Amino acid sequence: MLILFAAPALWPEYETLLPAALARAGIAAQVVTEAAPEEVDVIIYAPSSWLQDFTPYVKAKAVLNLWAGVERIVGNATLTQALCRMVDPGLTEGMVEWVLGHALRHHLGMDRHIVNPGHVWDATCPPLARSRPVAMLGLGELGLACARALQAMNFPVTGWSRTAKDIPGLRSLHGETGLKEALSQAQIVVTLLPKTPETENLLNAERLAFLPKGAVILNPGRGPLIDDQALLAALDGGLGHATLDVFRTEPLPQDHPFWTHPKITVTPHIAADTRPETAVGVLVANIARARDGLPLLHLVDRARGY
Ligand code: NAP
Repeated sequence: MLILFAAPALWPEYETLLPAALARAGIAAQVVTEAAPEEVDVIIYAPSSWLQDFTPYVKAKAVLNLWAGVERIVGNATLTQALCRMVDPGLTEGMVEWVLGHALRHHLGMDRHIVNPGHVWDATCPPLARSRPVAMLGLGELGLACARALQAMNFPVTGWSRTAKDIPGLRSLHGETGLKEALSQAQIVVTLLPKTPETENLLNAERLAFLPKGAVILNPGRGPLIDDQALLAALDGGLGHATLDVFRTEPLPQDHPFWTHPKITVTPHIAADTRPETAVGVLVANIARARDGLPLLHLVDRARGY
């Protein structure tokens, strides 16, 4: 098989790992960074790639995205090959750690002890996690893993997704009424949704107003899920804090008000990276499936947009 690795910036991380993993799996494949398009069997891809016209790749059975989010490729009209997104156990682990860490920061009120120039002896004890309701918007690979980790710490989690779900031990809602209900009760909201036309500005002024006073938003999903201006207005009102990992423009421009707002924490899109050590296993599994004509894992539904 001929595998085209069309993500040059990431090649050094995969150059040794991927051929070794393919060899271990007994797959006779050559991984290259340049090839005659008509000879390529599988394309490994990142949105920053030079490859934007998929038309000449007539033999390619799959395009394997190295990122979990596919909004920058899903609408490419030249892409008629199957598109798979990255579902990587290492990436999921990273996201769980980011969400837990930032949830605990706010839950325990850590800031007032970390930055305490006046040496104030504030002995207010935080409530237990069991009395801090969380709304998890998105119950996919990442949202569900984070919901489970928060539940393991006793946070009462309510999930919300596009379709109705019956997940053992997890209260899950859907639809506009479900969203209003989840937000109205939440002290922490986590947004782990893909960017699609339906999710853009999901948290607008009207829906942000459903949140109780002092509630905290953690957004490791995508910047456009939240209306920037509505968020700033809500924070200037009763909203407690927003910890944001993703933005409409990245890197976040130096003059963006998010940098200096006292109730906003900016993290630079580091919540969860694809980890080559674990991601190669996912790539190899799909390359084997492409070779054997089996259904591919983590296929993107183009109409749905994720
Ligand atoms: P996923 O498995 O595809 O899950 C997406 C979830 O969002 C599903 O539960 C889906 O509902 C829900 N959803 C989609 N559209 C919706 C809508 N219109 N209304 C309500 N719910 C909707 O995706 P994932 O792997 O969990 O990843 C989620 C997102 O995280 C990615 O798309 C990416 O943007 C972001 N991400 C960020 C980083 C980072 O470093 N910051 C890293 C990786 C990923 P159904 O279950 O009903 O389909």
